Amino acid sequence: MEDCLFCKISKGEIPSNKVYEDEEIMAFYDINPAAPIHILVIPKRHITSLAEIEKKDEVLIGKIYSVINQIAEEKGFKQEGFRVIVNCGKNGGQEVMHLHFHVLAGTKLGEKIV
Ligand code: AMP
Ligand code: ZN
Repeated sequence: MEDCLFCKISKGEIPSNKVYEDEEIMAFYDINPAAPIHILVIPKRHITSLAEIEKKDEVLIGKIYSVINQIAEEKGFKQEGFRVIVNCGKNGGQEVMHLHFHVLAGTKLGEKIV
């Protein structure tokens, strides 16, 4: 999608600090980390938000969680634990309108809402 920041990052048009990449999925460090480790995992194909996920995306979304697990293992925070957050829409506080999974790790995370 034109004028989408994360589409541009997924195409390499905007640089990122890449953690993982395959044909469908990419992960990179958040530019404004909210924890010692803060990684964003995105589908390369533009999906606006969690609310736009369709039946055909189910395998892809499952694969994203598998990739998150793999990254946790490789970066060494799997044992200590981590948190995955998806902000969706206005009330969810989503700012970049391309589906992304925040992966937060490296400290005992506070502000537990649920
Ligand atoms: P959200 O508020 O859930 O839409 O999260 C958007 C996230 O994207 C924020 O945590 C930002 O810090 C992050 N972000 C914005 N621009 C970039 C960028 N160019 N590279 C990496 N992360 C970014
Ligand atoms: Zn996009």
